[in-house]
Amino acid sequence: MWQRGAVTESAPLDVDLALLGGGGAASLLLAALDRHGVRDLRIAVVDPVRRRGQDRTWAFWGHPDSDLDPLLSASWQQVEVATPTRRRVLDLAPLRYAMLRSGPVYDRAAEAERRLGATRIVAPAESVTDDGTRVVVRTGAGPVVRADWVLDSRPRPPARPGRTTWLQHFRGWWLEADQPVFDPARAVLMDFRTPQPARGVSFGYVLPVSDRYALVEYTEFSPGLLTDAGYDTALAGYRDLLGLDPTGLRIREVENGVIPMTDAPFPARPSARVVRLGTAGGATRPSTGFTFSAMYRQADQVARALAAGRPPVPLPAYPRRHRWMDAVALRALDRGGVGGREFFDRLFDRNPAERVLRFLDGVTSPAEEVAVMNSTRLLPMIAATAGDAAHRVRARLGPTRPAPTIPAAVVGPTPPGAAPDGGTLPG
Ligand SMILES: Cc1cc2nc3c(=O)[nH]c(=O)nc-3n(C[C@H](O)[C@H](O)[C@H](O)COP(=O)(O)OP(=O)(O)OC[C@H]3O[C@@H](n4cnc5c(N)ncnc54)[C@H](O)[C@@H]3O)c2cc1C
Repeated sequence: MWQRGAVTESAPLDVDLALLGGGGAASLLLAALDRHGVRDLRIAVVDPVRRRGQDRTWAFWGHPDSDLDPLLSASWQQVEVATPTRRRVLDLAPLRYAMLRSGPVYDRAAEAERRLGATRIVAPAESVTDDGTRVVVRTGAGPVVRADWVLDSRPRPPARPGRTTWLQHFRGWWLEADQPVFDPARAVLMDFRTPQPARGVSFGYVLPVSDRYALVEYTEFSPGLLTDAGYDTALAGYRDLLGLDPTGLRIREVENGVIPMTDAPFPARPSARVVRLGTAGGATRPSTGFTFSAMYRQADQVARALAAGRPPVPLPAYPRRHRWMDAVALRALDRGGVGGREFFDRLFDRNPAERVLRFLDGVTSPAEEVAVMNSTRLLPMIAATAGDAAHRVRARLGPTRPAPTIPAAVVGPTPPGAAPDGGTLPG
């Protein structure tokens, strides 16, 4: 159940650092600790599941030549944003859009874990008690862990309900084609030609790794999930919109996901010695669901701090003003003041691509943010700002309610010829 060291149920495991959750955020952190040469820390990783294989695909933008580049499946200097009336090709230089499959990230983390001499506890963390100097973690069917610091990335609902609660939910097919049908030089970032839901916004996208192999996804930003058949119908519709002939295609893998899009709070420091990372710590950008860049940035900050003998506390994932702007934008989209595809179309139409992407990562200056805000329609945004302020006051005066949990993704049967979850196929 757990490895390394003579740990027994009666003798607690004393460590400097306990990572609760060993998914995306923890994997990036383990790799960062290794990269920054941290060697003298006693580390435990607690997760009932040992993550491996291809269970998700991360797409993100950034400068080339980061230490992630050797792990990428593909990257693109140009991306398309399409609406029913226009196809816009964006040159991202000096940034690039990149695709990273989970397998190489988990492999690198496993290697880092070995080099760091970490203890792996394959059990759920069940309770966390912080007395201000040490944190005691009780694990299901595993040892009690006593840690100086806990970095907790276990999925959890927000601390209280948001003013707007949407989900980014999607299904993707890894498609293998008999003929060259994809353009590997260019990804489709957002294609808003898909039929739009009554409430919310939908788009498709295409991430090609070769002229015959690509991830094609259908995504919605909306309050509720579709059914299994609903995702398949929407994705088949998008495939047809792309002009792809289904008889020359095979579905080799299916990817499903749900990511919160909400202004609800995800407290990053619930107690003195507990730091939350990943989606649980607020790394998911409310207006887009993008998470990877903030997780990567925070992993690097934590590792640098530990290497320098400082507490493992990263900067907030996004500046407070960005969280406020996202709350207003989500409200405007949810209450119908602004149409989703119009909102994103104007954003890319009136700003250089690099500014929009850096804004979505939360790293723009206030002057750049004014320019971004100016590209949205003013009146609905003013209405949403006023509505947001009124809602905050009402929420402060009213009774506290529990936040809704984030639903699990809808998973259908594996199509014939496709790899089961976590499988590896060409690409
Ligand atoms: C299919 C999919 C695709 C995505 N694609 C993108 C993308 O392209 N770009 C982007 O920016 N973001 C993307 N995201 C969002 C985000 O980057 C990922 O969800 C990312 O994995 C979040 O990392 P995390 O560590 O917060 O959570 P996870 O990676 O989900 O890790 C949480 C871990 O906690 C463990 N756990 C659960 N309960 C316990 C417990 N009691 N004790 C200990 N451990 C526990 C789980 O087993 C899991 O390993 C995607 C998400 C999904 C689901």
